Amino acid sequence: MINCRICNRKIKQIVNLGKISLVGNFQKKRLKQKKYKISLNYCIFCKHVQISERLNPDLLFKNYLWETGVSSSNIKILKNLLLKLKKLGINKKSKIIEIASNDGSFIKILKNKFSSKVVGIDPARNLAKKANQQKIFTINNYFNFNFSKKIKYKFSKFNFIFARNVVAHVKNPNEIFKGAENILDDNGIFIVEVPHLLSILNQNQYDNIFHEHNGFHSLKSISDLCKLNKMKIFDVDIINSQGGSIRCYISKIKSKKIISIKVKKILNLEKKSKIFSNNKLKNFKYKIISHSKNLYNLLSKLKKRGKKISIYGASGKGQALMQFSKIDKNLIDYVFDKSKLKQGFFTPGTNIKVRDPKNISRNDIDYLLILSWNIKKEIIQQEKKFSSMGGKFIVPFPEPKIIN
Ligand SMILES: [Zn+2]
Repeated sequence: MINCRICNRKIKQIVNLGKISLVGNFQKKRLKQKKYKISLNYCIFCKHVQISERLNPDLLFKNYLWETGVSSSNIKILKNLLLKLKKLGINKKSKIIEIASNDGSFIKILKNKFSSKVVGIDPARNLAKKANQQKIFTINNYFNFNFSKKIKYKFSKFNFIFARNVVAHVKNPNEIFKGAENILDDNGIFIVEVPHLLSILNQNQYDNIFHEHNGFHSLKSISDLCKLNKMKIFDVDIINSQGGSIRCYISKIKSKKIISIKVKKILNLEKKSKIFSNNKLKNFKYKIISHSKNLYNLLSKLKKRGKKISIYGASGKGQALMQFSKIDKNLIDYVFDKSKLKQGFFTPGTNIKVRDPKNISRNDIDYLLILSWNIKKEIIQQEKKFSSMGGKFIVPFPEPKIIN
């Protein structure tokens, strides 16, 4: 048995989800791929929700196929963040580091807009290389406390540190917090974004459970991490990213920053919503099982009536949901995705070819199941031609539903 990622105490199983192939492992050929166990658990002591499987991170992140900056919904979220950063005093003197900077597209925007000095760090060789080619200085490595000492030696301290969608991805989140505290200026701000456990539980988003996602965070769990690492949350925003995320603004514990009323409000909301109650967590298991069956039944009913079904979205979420619900080539003809890194490849564990959405046509599709449902509006808008010719969309959450 493995202990809690945050407080190191015992964890308890919520649901065993069987075995799935790694959701980022797209292959050039149809292959029988290795599958890995996955289960959801919670900590008896601090209630942090987490998977218990710990894979070698190189398997997951060395060649990472998720690039930032593809969807237009993300751009809107980004614009609001830029406004907030301006208020928080970001300027040309600011020194900024982004942990898991991906292809550098976020810090590139900060560099262009505020003329700040930016550094990125990312373990994916392909993405770090791409960033460096575009003159965004990027270190190809994992960020942890030990490595933060090297960074401090070379760059001294930072005014802004970003960790967007990475805290949930690491085995030991304390390493990120301890490392960030080490290189954070005394008046600096550490900004953390994570999918919100509240949305995951309330909207039944179990497609978030895969090997890249070690933990499912609440404001409470981020607050626990801060307390363990000499920091505090002084502000928080709920953002419409990844199906509902929280963006936490963190400072050193000794900082004089005033704590926003929003922090207390969201902590209270989490408590009131009972997301740490044993019953609600145990109940999640039955919600997952019934949703998964409903989705499979809907698709197989359509298939039996001779309908042709394809999928939009080859994100990790989609690959997890397909495998949990046994949606494979017996039901689905194609998977469409804008990412050029995935087109022409086969989906992990389900072996369906990924194609460019330009090829979406009423000739060979009756129903398009949207697995990148967090950007469904954008997709429906983009595929107007398909729907005007009688094509229909299916959205999986909160309940599988056909929409016109
Ligand atoms: Zn714990």
